[in-house]
Amino acid sequence: MSGEEDSSSTGVVVDLPSSPPEAWAKLMEGNARFVEGTSSHPNQDSARRTSLMSAQNPFVMIFGCSDSRLAAEIIFDLGLGDAFVVRTAGHVLDNTALGSLEYGVEYLKVPLIVVLGHDNCGAVTATKGAVATGEMPAGFVRDLVERITPSVLASLRKDKDSDVNAMVEEHVKQTAARLVENSPIIADAVARQRTAVVGLTYRLSDGSADLVYSNGSLGR
Ligand SMILES: [Zn+2]
Repeated sequence: MSGEEDSSSTGVVVDLPSSPPEAWAKLMEGNARFVEGTSSHPNQDSARRTSLMSAQNPFVMIFGCSDSRLAAEIIFDLGLGDAFVVRTAGHVLDNTALGSLEYGVEYLKVPLIVVLGHDNCGAVTATKGAVATGEMPAGFVRDLVERITPSVLASLRKDKDSDVNAMVEEHVKQTAARLVENSPIIADAVARQRTAVVGLTYRLSDGSADLVYSNGSLGR
């Protein structure tokens, strides 16, 4: 069967989420399929590709860690044109990442921004080590560690014995809060309930993602 005839994914745009609650529900449905091992691999055929030739209309922006195990479209069971993805090691927010997210909010009208961290994050682990020893890594990795350090320190203030996963959760919350604070464009979209911002921590062992932060209504 050719891609064009595949009825399982016709490329016809239906039930496209346009509000934060709709986008949130669709994202969580996809993650549930992935966790259960019943991924449907939607929107990955040639018909979908063709339908997106002249425009994109993604329903979610994912700002996540670059970790190879955190492949955004796979863990939420998405396809072409579904997710606008920005990733840096340790989901470190800088001006270009913020600009990418603002582009999605302002020009693509994306109704949901997800900050995605995960357990045993290497970048957060490196920062935990640097804070403990005072030794900074070489090169531009230092820049990552410097930008994660406030989250690690905040986590240690709450619990001096906090482990790397508690630090990841704190870093997800701080990153999500910071992108709203730093971007008037995103803050305005959240205030108008056009966009919601959520923070998720992903578990490498079972593929599930837990909500640890939200700004904006996700209700039904
Ligand atoms: Zn990571």
